Amino acid sequence: MPCYAQIIIQFATVNEIDRPFTYEVAPEISSRIQVGQRVKVPFGRYNHLQLGYVVKLMNEVQETGYRLKKVVVLIDEKPILDNKQLELISFIVDYYATSYAAAIDVVLPPGLKEEPIAVEEMSEKKVRLVEDRIKLKAYCNANAHKQTFAKQKWLIDYLREHTDINQKELLALPEVSASSLKTLEKNGCIYIEEEKVVYRPDPICEMRFKTLNDQQEQAVQYLKALNEANVYRTILLEGVTGSGKTEVFLHAIREVLMRGGTALVLVPEIALTDQTLFRFKERFGNRVALSHSRMSAKERQRLYMRAKNNEVSIIIGPRSAVFMPLDNLKLIVVDEAHESSYKSETTPKYHAIDIAKKRMMQNKGQVLLATATPSIESYAAARSGEYSLLTLNKRIGEAVLPEVDVVDMRLEIQKGNNSVLSHTLFEAIKDALEADGQVMLLLNRRGYSTFINCRSCGHVIKCDHCDVSMTYHASQQILQCHYCGKTSDVPEVCPECGSKYIRFMGSGTEKVEAYLKECFGNYGVARMDMDTTTGKEGHQKILSAFRKKEVRLLIGTQMIAKGHDFPAVTLVGVLSADLSLFMQDFRSNERTYQLLTQAMGRAGRGKEKGRVVIQTYNPNHLVMEVIRNNAQEAFYEQELANREMLGYPPYTHIFSLLVSGLDEEEVIRTVQLLSQYYRYYSQKGQSHFRVIGPTSAVISKIGDEYRWRLLIVGEEREKLLIYGKFCLEKFYNKEKVSGTKIQWDVDPLAML
Ligand SMILES: [Zn+2]
Ligand SMILES: [Zn+2]
Ligand SMILES: [Zn+2]
Repeated sequence: MPCYAQIIIQFATVNEIDRPFTYEVAPEISSRIQVGQRVKVPFGRYNHLQLGYVVKLMNEVQETGYRLKKVVVLIDEKPILDNKQLELISFIVDYYATSYAAAIDVVLPPGLKEEPIAVEEMSEKKVRLVEDRIKLKAYCNANAHKQTFAKQKWLIDYLREHTDINQKELLALPEVSASSLKTLEKNGCIYIEEEKVVYRPDPICEMRFKTLNDQQEQAVQYLKALNEANVYRTILLEGVTGSGKTEVFLHAIREVLMRGGTALVLVPEIALTDQTLFRFKERFGNRVALSHSRMSAKERQRLYMRAKNNEVSIIIGPRSAVFMPLDNLKLIVVDEAHESSYKSETTPKYHAIDIAKKRMMQNKGQVLLATATPSIESYAAARSGEYSLLTLNKRIGEAVLPEVDVVDMRLEIQKGNNSVLSHTLFEAIKDALEADGQVMLLLNRRGYSTFINCRSCGHVIKCDHCDVSMTYHASQQILQCHYCGKTSDVPEVCPECGSKYIRFMGSGTEKVEAYLKECFGNYGVARMDMDTTTGKEGHQKILSAFRKKEVRLLIGTQMIAKGHDFPAVTLVGVLSADLSLFMQDFRSNERTYQLLTQAMGRAGRGKEKGRVVIQTYNPNHLVMEVIRNNAQEAFYEQELANREMLGYPPYTHIFSLLVSGLDEEEVIRTVQLLSQYYRYYSQKGQSHFRVIGPTSAVISKIGDEYRWRLLIVGEEREKLLIYGKFCLEKFYNKEKVSGTKIQWDVDPLAML
């Protein structure tokens, strides 16, 4: 029996104590203690009881000279974490330079109490015929002449054939009434009993699988072979929009299930619609479960336990679902794998693809990254052979790729057209609507007027708490900050100079919606952005009205560009394609390219050929050239060359530090001091790291906090991490920091 245990304390937030501690195991629990259990242990000077996790058990330890404290309280009877999860936790701690407490927090379901996870036994009322068939027959004969008996007779016959049915399912049948059930029970013909629900997986519905084209079939065969060979591999499934990627992974999942494995499907939260779920349910029945952010903590704990107990074979969910402890997990599909929502922006700042890869290495399974617009990193990995590449470049059915027009908005202004719609786009909308088509317009900027300035002194009205201009919302007649959410009244005079000449500039979705209603109102116009989709079903409602063609013209922010399949959309317009081009971020080309390509993918998915009109002030920009010529390859090659020349990822890795606080001077002092440590050790060491900054962050103030950034760039991730952590430790040991927060992120995606 083990005498000692290594334990990680959950609420240890200070850096120095975030490591396993050795405890002696009290004899009364030594026969029950196991790795992965939660325990309570005395900790600190006052020996307050703290929650901890057993990570290792030992029979002896080296003499330390002081007396070890004892573990006395076991919380779980069975381990809550298995060995693979513990290994994953260590991986997260190292890979993202984060704490054990933070890593454990993301691996376990939220809201756990300090008691075993309660899995309320689900029970149901089973309805069965009595064994005594003679008695049953006698009852039938005696009542056959009654008018009310027909219903009872139907029920008896039904129960003869269905021996495993519950009351709820029965009552859902139109032929069954509560009163006939009651009568039969009263007369001893049937009995109703409370029974524990036993999970019986539904058979896979073969009929629902569509026939594949050659490219799809090849992809499925490739995945099947990897699965049979039991080898880890990450595969990039690069398929143009509408090429049937989903059908490929549905087939691949079927293969995995038939071999006794399970699968995870990650999708961006916004694409978690009833439609997505339906495509899985109709094929895999009750083997599929959904995980999403609107679930309560209880529901998520229950799903976690179902996964652990092998009561579900497929889980579909957003980023956080990547931790679901499915047994014998053999395939993780990441749909729309380029989406930035797969990266967590709260500590630990993990990327779901990194976690998926780690888990599949543990299980000798595969990660399938499905996208029409791979991230530059994935593209480079596929090119170098680190990933396998599967390509789908044909649209399924009769759909063909749309025709693309890039409109130079500078010429529109020269021609005297100051409207948000170019002549070309206006005519295209009219044509599409008159031909019974549907139209989607993308404008990645919500609100009515996106900034307000004074004509006399040029002052721009900004949020009092953020370095961001206020947006005017006409429906509520207010100004709102899109970063902290604070609102204010619309000023009558300039707060700087008192002038009455205040201008409302820049068109947001709300203003364009109003304009479209004026011109095309009788076709049905709707707007989809964060302001119109706040309710629980908000965005489902808009999409379903669009699906039913009650709405023919939909204007929205990037949320309309994502993954929706509307066959009747024949025109997609992008109003300000330049918005994300000059964002002071080395990923801005990539983002713009992806957004435009995704938006274009919404057009012409049905029988009619689609059309795309893109409005820009920079028609000669690389991204616009590429879009116009459908030159995907050229874009990636050019962008990779740029990144290499400038020393950006994927050729390097970035360790990004953000210092923030209410006192601007203190923030600047801290970040400058911090940068001195990095510069000092960079010159001292063998390897060289580039230290960029410190600079004021792109958004220099959010919610009253000033923000400064320091970037450390290095070629080898591992060395960069060691160096990044080493300097931080030195800094914390020597310097006193008060009132400022230091956050870090390895391989950051957003650097606002
Ligand atoms: Zn707003
Ligand atoms: Zn003014
Ligand atoms: Zn604000």
